Amino acid sequence: MDKATILRWLRETDAARLEELWQRADATRRAEVGDAVQLRGLVEFSNVCVRQCTYCGLRAGNRGVTRYTMTADEIMGCAREAVRLGFGTVVLQSGENPSCTAAWLAGVIRSIKAETSLAVTLSVGERDRAELAAWRTAGADRYLLRFETSNRQLYDRIHPGLPGQFSDRLAILRQLRDLGYEVGSGVMVGLPGQTYDDLAEDLLWFGRLGLDMIGIGPYIPHPDTPLGQEALGGAAAGAEQVPASELMTYKMVALARLMCPGANLPSTTALATLNKASGRELGLSRGANILMPNLTPTRYRAAYEIYPSKVCITETAEICHGCMMRRLQSIHRSVGTGRGDAPAYHRRQHPVNERTAS
Ligand code: SAH
Repeated sequence: MDKATILRWLRETDAARLEELWQRADATRRAEVGDAVQLRGLVEFSNVCVRQCTYCGLRAGNRGVTRYTMTADEIMGCAREAVRLGFGTVVLQSGENPSCTAAWLAGVIRSIKAETSLAVTLSVGERDRAELAAWRTAGADRYLLRFETSNRQLYDRIHPGLPGQFSDRLAILRQLRDLGYEVGSGVMVGLPGQTYDDLAEDLLWFGRLGLDMIGIGPYIPHPDTPLGQEALGGAAAGAEQVPASELMTYKMVALARLMCPGANLPSTTALATLNKASGRELGLSRGANILMPNLTPTRYRAAYEIYPSKVCITETAEICHGCMMRRLQSIHRSVGTGRGDAPAYHRRQHPVNERTAS
């Protein structure tokens, strides 16, 4: 798809034409990754963060956060819960916390891999190549690192580097690929200053990077962050400003499916936060094929406040799981079994088998 076509869809307002986009994305999803929805258990194991991202409630400068880091035993307990609930993957996510050393996290990964057959996904921010390599050696399968926006000026404004360092997430994504990880990235939709052209470029980058996983969610202003104050304060928006809306997020999910047909795409929690009744289901009907039920112990959930009004912060893992199952049944989608590796990744790893098979 060329940029002009992408831009046309991003600006489309006619409901009947948009129905065509939803149907194309849904048909592509069905043909490429099937009807089964994979469940990834999310463990938000630490909200300690040294970064100052202006959009995120966990930024170091936010003094109002009660900080926590789960123990290796507590994380292992969540992994056992994932197995009990029939999940194929556990996602370990945190702020950028250097006191979670490479050796410590490698130990956690090794324990999970020794005791379970879960795939392990990491989402712990920007770390050195040596650390990424150590975790891969310990058995980590996948890594999520959103580039957040492909507009470099906007990125620098919302995601300052550590003192004296340049934050280059695209370079890290290439390292992850070299190390043999299944690679996931993604963006937020509706950041103050983000234009239609920026979103079109984001989609072209998804294609260029050949991503295995793509997470897309609306930007949700957090009142205790600099960007949130700007957004909530009603800063003057340019004519090209994209809305941080549910509709714009569905368009991005649908177009991401068309750009990267064999990728795994979650219907995200941020989307469900905008539409609690049916956001998850609509995401799954417009290109997405993954859900990420929260496995974080209930007592920690409220403190992992990357944005406000996050859904599912008082429930237990069991209740989240039941809720997801009911939602899937309502749209006649089945639950995936096994690890749910991305077909795109599989094709890259086994090009010969692919040729023999066809
Ligand atoms: N520290 C890790 C994990 C961050 S949380 C990292 O930086 O990769 C995962 C994602 O949540 C982020 O990549 C960002 O896209 C999203 N996020 C953070 N704050 C948000 C907000 N206010 N609204 C919507 N999404 C947000």
